[in-house]
Amino acid sequence: MYDLLKKPVFYSGLYRISAKIRKKRCCILLYHGIHDSPRPPEHSDKHLALSLFEKHLRYLKRYCHIISLAELIYQPDFPENATLLTFDDGYKNNYTLVYSLLKTYRMPATFFITTGFIDRTLFLWTDQLDYLITYTPLKSLYLTIGNERLALLLHTREDRRQARSQLKRRLKRVPISLQQSLMQELVQKCRVNYGWDTLPENDKPLSWHDVKEMAKNDLITIGSHSVSHPILSRCSLTEQKRELAFSKQRIEQETQRECFAFAYPNGKLGDFNADTIELLIDTGYSAAVTTRVGYVDPQHRDRFLFCRFGASDNVIDFAPLVSGFSHLLHSW
Ligand SMILES: [Zn+2]
Repeated sequence: MYDLLKKPVFYSGLYRISAKIRKKRCCILLYHGIHDSPRPPEHSDKHLALSLFEKHLRYLKRYCHIISLAELIYQPDFPENATLLTFDDGYKNNYTLVYSLLKTYRMPATFFITTGFIDRTLFLWTDQLDYLITYTPLKSLYLTIGNERLALLLHTREDRRQARSQLKRRLKRVPISLQQSLMQELVQKCRVNYGWDTLPENDKPLSWHDVKEMAKNDLITIGSHSVSHPILSRCSLTEQKRELAFSKQRIEQETQRECFAFAYPNGKLGDFNADTIELLIDTGYSAAVTTRVGYVDPQHRDRFLFCRFGASDNVIDFAPLVSGFSHLLHSW
């Protein structure tokens, strides 16, 4: 029913009315990146098409008030239809494509970067896994995780899509040391060349030069997304501390600006714990964003549990999200 409603409501302009209803709640949008060339369907949908992203920006410019992360944390009240733009992981296209559009539209944004990825000491394992399973010449794959033996068929595109999501789901649940050794095993078994030079354009990391250039602009906030993108609740206290402190230190050393915000890797409840929040405070962070879905009410701001919406891949879905129409329907 809701899906049937979205299109007529979009074209009738009713979202503008519902935007009045969202009022002072802030909508935080989560992006990873954008791409400007056609991509094979097997590639992850982490990156939106540039033309679609521009549609988002035009919609936001017209109907919303884009605020910065500092305003979200410290301003006593939000302007009407307050919206915050965030980008996770630290992909190259954040600089080459996103940044210039943000300057054109004069919109603030926050980039949460994974410092080990920027330093090129580690790949983002989920991207690597996607690539290995998509391009391996194998037609089946066997893997032992704990005491479970996994048999994955890789005959069709659909087999591979299922294998990718099953493996990611399983590997997110194991301790980080086991996850790393399973990834090594996958690399050996899949016989696919995945290196910095062969990385698909949209999976390449920002350079520190890119980060520094962006950080010089007052529109831009650089936050941490850890060193190695682990599920923090699967890490020991010492590992968690290292992930939070080293990434903050590294960003501050390069940008000469305070890194005061954090985005939890994966970001769902259960992907971090009370220790994580305590460590964030001890390490000197002032806020953290999750991937829990919801708007931020200025009267009930939990600075270490900010919710976000994944930016949808079409404008018909995007409009109800940023107008608050989704909130209106779901609260009935
Ligand atoms: Zn991430």
